[in-house]
Amino acid sequence: MSSPTQNAVQMTMPVASGTYPSAADEPRKWVPSQFNARTTAPDGTLVLWNSYSHAFSGFPPEARPQVEPLLHRRGFTAPPTGLTKYMADRGFIVPRGAREFERFQLRYGQRHYRQDFLDLTLLSSEDCNFRCIYCYETFERGTMEPWVRTALIRMMEQRAPHLRRLTVSYFGGEPLLGFEAIAEVAPAFLKLAGEHGIRFSSGMTTNAYLLTPDTFAKLLQWNIKQFQVTIDGLPEDHDCRRMLKGGGPTFSRILENLKAIQTFPNEFGVMLRVNFDQANARRMREFIALLGCFKEDARFKLFFYPIRQLGGSNDGSLKTCGDMDPQRDVLEVLGREMGMQVHRTVPNSRPFGEPCYANEPQHLTVGANGNLMKCTVMLDSNPRNIVGRLKEDGTMAIDIDRFARWCTPHFRDDSVCRKCFFLPLCGGAVCPVRRVVNNQRCCPPEKLRIGNVLKKMWLMNNERANRYDMQREKLLRYTELSPPGTQAHA
Ligand code: SF4
Ligand code: SF4
Repeated sequence: MSSPTQNAVQMTMPVASGTYPSAADEPRKWVPSQFNARTTAPDGTLVLWNSYSHAFSGFPPEARPQVEPLLHRRGFTAPPTGLTKYMADRGFIVPRGAREFERFQLRYGQRHYRQDFLDLTLLSSEDCNFRCIYCYETFERGTMEPWVRTALIRMMEQRAPHLRRLTVSYFGGEPLLGFEAIAEVAPAFLKLAGEHGIRFSSGMTTNAYLLTPDTFAKLLQWNIKQFQVTIDGLPEDHDCRRMLKGGGPTFSRILENLKAIQTFPNEFGVMLRVNFDQANARRMREFIALLGCFKEDARFKLFFYPIRQLGGSNDGSLKTCGDMDPQRDVLEVLGREMGMQVHRTVPNSRPFGEPCYANEPQHLTVGANGNLMKCTVMLDSNPRNIVGRLKEDGTMAIDIDRFARWCTPHFRDDSVCRKCFFLPLCGGAVCPVRRVVNNQRCCPPEKLRIGNVLKKMWLMNNERANRYDMQREKLLRYTELSPPGTQAHA
């Protein structure tokens, strides 16, 4: 067995924090970062995560006497070498007096106020061929009106010269019911993006009932490559949650379509969203076994999501799991154990990946009738969400006060957010609808149960982690490790 101090585990890229202006070995005062979270894994590993740097390290039980004093609030004095340097490089400790909130604010502002990004959610159809039990939509309109499509292309012609990145997501209703609208706008966006050198990505949230190979091939041609498809467990579970409008099962046709698109050699991604409640969660092992054909295909990922009451007419009868229920972690670990790719929830790979797009000034949802909205759950059920109208000439009439209410940095005037370890991920805006309607903070469940989330991450990832050799002060790749038996976590 190697020395206990040889086995810190690093899972993300080191972060150059740029905080060491003085001579390399000069002792200085350090304190733990306000953005740290930690837990002890069942194997005794001290698991440490920083939401600003995204560093995620594990220290074996033998190393804890060396590491834990560095995380004490009173701080310590040491030169930035050895373990101190390792901790500082990853942002777990910062020089005393570091203005961590202001560092976050600066990074937030640099991204939040960019003018060269545009993120559109287009309701190509507000009608749907399904009537899912938990749906909150009202299906008042059908396919996106022709004048809206023309106006969208005009808007893009005007904006394209100023854009560096464009994201277009098709949503509904069921977006494929509005295929003729997609067929009009998507090729035009692709052409404009190509002409102006814009980084362009596009995706769709679809129930996949109409996602036949022919349709899929056309979508790929238009660069629509990221799909979210919901499939709620075994046929007996799925078919009583996600039935056709007018009744009828949908599971087998969806699975048939998914298997057919799997035969395409192209690059694309399918997030298989599984909405779970107390009942279907019990049968997930059998369901995941049924998805065995997607196991070896990294393009297909499972994404477990607890059914929530979102304002639909059946809300009262839904048997939801509470926000603090650990079921999601259990399912994610199970999916991984059974060989599927599993989309990790929080912490995810992007430092600012969690605030909702409704908080972003670059984001707009465009309704089938030209309404401009923010939240894709509230849609036009509340006038506060209708922040403007698209005009026929491609310009937009924006109600600036309504728009600003969604996009404001909600953490700024919230003293709890300002001190929160989760701030860099959440931005105080994981679901801004609560701020806008009730002026209330909404903390993500992952923050509230961070200990369990870190334990899950450790369980799911530690075999592929890199190890930091504290004696040699070198980060080793997994493939460079000593043979099994010489590393505590190998
Ligand atoms: S909303 Fe909650 S989790 Fe988010 S930054 Fe504020 S206190 Fe933290
Ligand atoms: S504001 Fe909340 S409900 Fe609306 S889209 Fe964002 S996360 Fe969903």
